[in-house]
Amino acid sequence: MKRDALALEESLGALDRGLLKRRRATLATLSAAGEWPSVTVDGRRAVDFCSNDYLALARHPDIASAMAAAAVRHGAGSGASHLVAGHGIEHARLEEELALFTGRARALLFSTGYMANLAVVGALAGGGEQVLLDRLCHASLIDAALLCRARFKRFAHADAAAAERALARGDGTAALIATDGVFSMDGDLAPLAELARLSRAHDCWLVVDDAHGLGVLGPTGRGSLEECGLDEKAVPVLVGTLGKAFGTFGAFVAGAADVIELLLQKARPYAYTTALPQPIAAATRQALRIAAREPWRRERVLSLARRFSQAAQQLGVPLMASTTPIQPVLLGSTARVLRAQEELLNAGFWVVAIRPPTVASGSSRLRVTLSAGHTEDQVDGLVEALGRIVAQLPP
Ligand SMILES: *Cc1c(COP(=O)(O)O)cnc(C)c1O
Repeated sequence: MKRDALALEESLGALDRGLLKRRRATLATLSAAGEWPSVTVDGRRAVDFCSNDYLALARHPDIASAMAAAAVRHGAGSGASHLVAGHGIEHARLEEELALFTGRARALLFSTGYMANLAVVGALAGGGEQVLLDRLCHASLIDAALLCRARFKRFAHADAAAAERALARGDGTAALIATDGVFSMDGDLAPLAELARLSRAHDCWLVVDDAHGLGVLGPTGRGSLEECGLDEKAVPVLVGTLGKAFGTFGAFVAGAADVIELLLQKARPYAYTTALPQPIAAATRQALRIAAREPWRRERVLSLARRFSQAAQQLGVPLMASTTPIQPVLLGSTARVLRAQEELLNAGFWVVAIRPPTVASGSSRLRVTLSAGHTEDQVDGLVEALGRIVAQLPP
């Protein structure tokens, strides 16, 4: 872009004309954090139905207390990267607990899931090798492949046979196949067992980013892999994030000891950034404990998702096929989705419009997410409002 005011104005104006301009709403908790999911959105009262706080842990008082106590003890900042002086006792313990939780030899903490994905793809496929990605995988996996100059191909969404054809069209080899476990904007699951078979048959890494499955899916909340009955042999590299079901912040990669050692030695997004603050690690440890001892949270969010999905379908709300707490309402155009967002807010519900480039053109949607913190009445109220609003939208 040219350095002049006109070029900037033109670029921003184009977003505006396409109804693609983003606007941040400022959310405030009511008198106490514990009142979430009731919030104010730019001063208007509403129930939050678009956070990723599936287990309702982000505002849990015991987690906040663990964070506060660790801040008093260790300070707010870690002061350096993990490889210098920033790796503290809370990080070390959290890594051990995450390895145990995922049933893998080792886990390595990252500041964000975005960085964890950059690290994994860069370390395992950084030599210009071939990388295969699901067409709808998270933007951070795409950016990871771009950044490390991998030759990457995207295969049709959730289609292992398409992945196999993509492999065959190349020289039959790839360094890595990567996919979300649960797709973040769609809520459906990847065909993990088939991708596991394919990756083993072709000797390539399979990386599963389970940002939205961990803590929620599987008989004990171990995520998409547990849901599909897959172990470390089937899926050697697991990426998890801590800012969603676990309610805090940060991310990790779990896998065999040598895989983790390679990341620690070589991944630039690991080495060249300040370690995440220890209070966040301490808070996450507390969140893991609460999630383990309160399985009702997982059961509840899934049962609310079923309640929402059944009732919304009965009212003719255009839901996408999903059995997870991510329940998108497919509305198509940016105009329709923005109108629905506004009317829902008028009715007291905050569900943000998801538009291109986050999703494909013509597939704008309201990404409804359920949480263990919602009440049945709130869910029923949302369904009723959606039914009424969607029925009155212009075509
Ligand atoms: C949110 C998300 C990420 C990024 O994680 P952050 O910790 O928020 O950076 C990565 N992958 C998927 C699938 C996600 O949904």
